[in-house]
Amino acid sequence: MPNKHQPDSSVFGEAIHYFDDAAARLNLSSSIYRILTHPSRQVIISIPFARDNGEFEVYTGYRVQYSSARGPAKGGIRYHPNVTLDEVTALAFWMTWKCAVVDLPFGGGKGGVTCDPNVLSRGELERLTRRYAADLIEIIGPDKDVPAPDVNTNAQTMAWVMDTVSMHLRAHTPGVVTGKPLNVGGSRGRVEATGRGVMIAVEAALEKMGKGIAGKTVVVQGFGNVGSITAKLLREAGAKVVGISDVTGGYHDPRGIDVDAALAHVAKNEHRTLRGFEAERVSNEAVLELPCDILVPAALENQLTEKNARKIKAHLIAEGANGPTTPEADRLLSEGGVTIIPDILANAGGVTVSYFEWVQNRMGYYWRESEVNDRLRELLRENFDVVWETSKQFDTTLRGGAYTVAIKRVVDAYTTRGIYA
Ligand code: NAD
Repeated sequence: MPNKHQPDSSVFGEAIHYFDDAAARLNLSSSIYRILTHPSRQVIISIPFARDNGEFEVYTGYRVQYSSARGPAKGGIRYHPNVTLDEVTALAFWMTWKCAVVDLPFGGGKGGVTCDPNVLSRGELERLTRRYAADLIEIIGPDKDVPAPDVNTNAQTMAWVMDTVSMHLRAHTPGVVTGKPLNVGGSRGRVEATGRGVMIAVEAALEKMGKGIAGKTVVVQGFGNVGSITAKLLREAGAKVVGISDVTGGYHDPRGIDVDAALAHVAKNEHRTLRGFEAERVSNEAVLELPCDILVPAALENQLTEKNARKIKAHLIAEGANGPTTPEADRLLSEGGVTIIPDILANAGGVTVSYFEWVQNRMGYYWRESEVNDRLRELLRENFDVVWETSKQFDTTLRGGAYTVAIKRVVDAYTTRGIYA
């Protein structure tokens, strides 16, 4: 196998770690390896926009299209002070495999602006977003690259991008972004889609092991979009949620947490957190180590590390967050017999319903929520089976299986199209 071309200190360099394992399994030629370990296109822009005080500020924005072999690039736009080209590239790289593992006709992309959105007014955020979208007008579009929300961007941000592009093109172009509000072309079921996907993946994994969800104990780290919906749906499916956490700490009740009460608490809480929720308080670290059958890290990256991997009691981990397990922890947990449903499969429900939104935009015909949920289940279950079988075939983990499936699909697309060089 050729040497890695990126230093390990970069996020992208780290991300390549899992890719390398699967690439070795597939005996990729050095030519294909070289192509797949380079982003197709990286764009850096300076974004001038007017502050409320009349001064102009200039922020740096990025869009990376990692691969378009299987279709238009697809991936979110992140607003955060730590956004760098390296991070955006790694995120676009992950999106490539996430789209491929659930067989969506998309490549991988990601965008971001290095900024602290908390110091910007709504008007400033709108002007920043519109200028970012306008500057990318040649490279984004329903057949080119389809952004979506990510950290600190939301449905409103997507409405501004859609409007800006539609104004410039003089044509209504809802398919340029997904994750839009329902009244301007969003899809029913999108808000719940990632958590629903995690629940479907857990159900599928348990079924393969000859078990059911009923009575299983669950701990969920993070109580935002992904964590709270996952907890709610797993409880509705018969599991007992014994631990939840958010930025304010962990909450434990071995008799079972009333997830609806927790959701209602967050909804009425000033900062939309669990602060003040009645349950035994535990630290954020301890919540991960609580006795339970299923652990769902759904907050941040690098939460399961070599330091706590041996203390994890769960036998099944479903990665709701992106990158919650370090490669070392992944090895320790897998050696200890823990089954991990990897992020690119476990949290792919969101991008799957984004795909449905794009399809509905192109048809101009909108589906009922039950239709969205049924199609989501069908697509995730089908591809879960493929990943499961592949991991058995290569005697590897589900993560190894997922990367193997995804990389093979991208390689097959390249091979069929031919490399234009
Ligand atoms: P969110 O902002 O809605 O929620 C994040 C939650 O994590 C919040 O409850 C926050 O309080 C909590 N949190 C922050 N620091 C914590 C800590 N140290 N310990 C415990 N909890 C902590 O974000 P989200 O949309 O739910 O995304 C969560 C993760 O899922 C991210 O990794 C994201 O990239 C990934 N993801 C999200 C989607 C989606 O559709 N929203 C899709 C795929 C992947």
